[in-house]
Amino acid sequence: MIPFLDLKKINAAYADEIKEAVYRVIDSGWYVLGEECSRFEEEYASFIGSSHAIGCGNGLDALTLILRAYKELGMISEGDSVIVPANTYIASILAISENGLIPKLVEPDPSTLQIDPHKIEEAISPRCKAVMIVHLYGRCAFTEKIGEICQKNGLLLIEDNAQAHGCIFNGKRTGALGNAAAHSFYPGKNLGALGDGGAVTTDDPVLAKTIRTIANYGSDKKYIFSLKGINSRLDEIQAAVLRVKLRHLDCDNAKRKKIGGIYMEKIANPLIELPAPSHPDANVFHLFPVLCEKRDNLMSHLLQNGIATLIHYPVPPHRQKCYPELGTRNYPVTQRIHDREISLPISPVQTEEDTETIINAVNKWNT
Ligand SMILES: *Cc1c(COP(=O)(O)O)cnc(C)c1O
Repeated sequence: MIPFLDLKKINAAYADEIKEAVYRVIDSGWYVLGEECSRFEEEYASFIGSSHAIGCGNGLDALTLILRAYKELGMISEGDSVIVPANTYIASILAISENGLIPKLVEPDPSTLQIDPHKIEEAISPRCKAVMIVHLYGRCAFTEKIGEICQKNGLLLIEDNAQAHGCIFNGKRTGALGNAAAHSFYPGKNLGALGDGGAVTTDDPVLAKTIRTIANYGSDKKYIFSLKGINSRLDEIQAAVLRVKLRHLDCDNAKRKKIGGIYMEKIANPLIELPAPSHPDANVFHLFPVLCEKRDNLMSHLLQNGIATLIHYPVPPHRQKCYPELGTRNYPVTQRIHDREISLPISPVQTEEDTETIINAVNKWNT
């Protein structure tokens, strides 16, 4: 069986270094907000190319903290709206509604599967304060046009970089392209911890300090609380593990890119749509999505051939029970993607032989 994602094998590749890091934390006697977290924040900020990184509990918290901090700083108010792609993981939307803000869904470009820059302007209203782009599937969603639209309209640009650690646009990493970015270190992401973890990156020192305060109970001085905060921190064990895995991230991403390139070159089946090719730097292949009208048949054919696949994601946010208010409009491009998407296995530990097996099974399928 070719698994969809073999996390055990991914971490086993660095087992000695990871164990050394975990034992170091156990022996230190310091488990939350210590040396490992500070060092990881410095190393991650320098990797992304931003002035500040703030560790937090997970990717959803990272997104939520950014918007909450902008509210505390008076740059966004409850009832304002935030533009976000209609085809995204629910977390992007949850961070917006959790803050009492209104998600303004924008359709993706059907060939890149990323927010359509040409449809952003028509979604801007007087109370729109920010654009949240999502580098979905590991592919850069930023374009110069998006940067210009935000500049021209005075909109904050927030990146959801949960799926694209290491991705590059014009020499700059995603996570350093806007005003602030959220990162998730959920085990299955390109940079994955051994549990939950997240971070915010930004060049804005005031935003960074506000997020740090909110994430630590609203305290900027021990037992003194300037804001009604939350508890969302990156613990020392996760930070130590992430420091190990960050050193190998570019190398792991290069392996993903190689497999992605082979899929792009060799998958040839008129019943299957591949995404448009991207600039080689601008995709770290967190997932490899293909579109297919008879998705269920393709999935069971691949399963019969010993290949596990997943759907990202079967139901779009505007069709989720928790968001009846988003269900009053149709988003046909989004709906089509969610009805047809299948993710093929891709990971730094996938063998060339497995990649060939997958390509042959995909190319052979005809019903
Ligand atoms: C994983 C993910 C998140 C949330 O990250 P968690 O660490 O699981 O909270 C947010 N946005 C996107 C696009 C994701 O894929």
